[in-house]
Amino acid sequence: MAPSKPQIIQQKQRDASSKLDVTIVGAGLGGLGAAISILLEGHNVQILEVAPEIGEIGAGIQCLPNSTRILISWGLEDALSKFATTPRLCNMIGWKGQKISDMDFHEYGAQCGTPFWDFHRANLHMALLERAVELGAKLTTNSRVVDVEYEFSGDQTRAIAVCADGKRHMADLVVGADGINSKCREILLGHEDPPLLTGDLAYRLLLDTEQMMKDSELRSFVEDPQVNYWIGPDAHAVNYVLRGGKLFNMVLLVPDDMPAGANTLAGNVEEMRALYANWDPRIPKLLALCKDVFKWRLMIRPGLDPTWSHPSAAFTILGDAAHATLPYLASGAGMSLEDGHVLGLCLGATKDKSTFEKKKALDIYERCRRERTERVVSRGNRQQYLYHVHDGEEQQERDRLLSEFAKFNGK
Ligand code: FAD
Repeated sequence: MAPSKPQIIQQKQRDASSKLDVTIVGAGLGGLGAAISILLEGHNVQILEVAPEIGEIGAGIQCLPNSTRILISWGLEDALSKFATTPRLCNMIGWKGQKISDMDFHEYGAQCGTPFWDFHRANLHMALLERAVELGAKLTTNSRVVDVEYEFSGDQTRAIAVCADGKRHMADLVVGADGINSKCREILLGHEDPPLLTGDLAYRLLLDTEQMMKDSELRSFVEDPQVNYWIGPDAHAVNYVLRGGKLFNMVLLVPDDMPAGANTLAGNVEEMRALYANWDPRIPKLLALCKDVFKWRLMIRPGLDPTWSHPSAAFTILGDAAHATLPYLASGAGMSLEDGHVLGLCLGATKDKSTFEKKKALDIYERCRRERTERVVSRGNRQQYLYHVHDGEEQQERDRLLSEFAKFNGK
């Protein structure tokens, strides 16, 4: 039996004695998602964001049915479906162009009860921001959080988010959603804790599909939206259509050759093309249309010990700050949205503002999220190995299993 369509969560009312003041650090996908979920449970939310404004950053982002279920339950179906592309198939293709397997995303989405959606990140980001503000979030930009302090009074604990400009924001709970290079994580741990290198980097580029439409071979990528993964020795490439066919998103995953210290750089288009010169001729053809490109070093955060929350129960973290993963399962943003959803539900169950109630909520939040997110990070690492296997027996076995897996999921 197919799962039912998600119910839209209605905003709850709370009296002042149980209404928490929550400060979220970071207005990224995870921070905004958490804001929506916490506001729907009837608490107050303010968001501190270091950037001067919420701009058009990033490129494509795939949302799998687990995250579209949450987005729909937050009342975002109308706002998002107009920007979403729902790909028909997900194809696995060998680096020389031979099709390995395909999975019917329409059918699989129907089985899950919610669709696969591909977005330009900016559309998803703006829809989350607008919904958070509509529900009552207060956003303060130009605010870099540099420290968290605590205040204890009777059975209650409060946290103070301290900003670089000296401003101090007192809350019942501070939530660090400040991404992969998280300051909040270091504050929680009490020491430096840089993300780990993975040995890979991503070239990210967006093509205007007008040029593609002039080529009989490339126009089918636009007319029949599909997600394509080309997998080959030490590298892979992913592409899909965005914004109703106006943009074509490509991500090329290759060995990391970036200098120490830099995590994003303008890339050299010629160097990028050379890496794929011998691949399926459709890739060099697509790359010939590229004018500029960005390089992102790919890093991870496998786990956070001993716990995700401060013993005061006034400070916790979520998203990439807790468990950044390789993007090879297209699940990092999805995990951040799930974190926010679960955190909101757990805070929704608090009866008052006591440390005891918050501790219970944060314990359940972590117990629900830790194992799943750590599994996604380690599966992402396994995917790196499997996608980048060199031609030979192991690659043949991988391709056989991929084909079996696709058949299994099509049923
Ligand atoms: P972010 O979105 O990074 O947000 C952090 C926010 O905190 C930012 O706004 C930042 O400015 C702010 N901030 C930072 N420090 C401070 C501070 N000290 N004070 C105040 N504010 C601060 N995920 C998917 O689900 N599907 C995909 O298809 C996908 N593709 C990807 C492709 C690539 C190449 C990469 C690199 C990632 C991809 N991801 C994908 C992963 C996804 O982008 C991240 O997992 C997700 O954005 C994490 O959300 P977040 O809110 O934790 O962090």
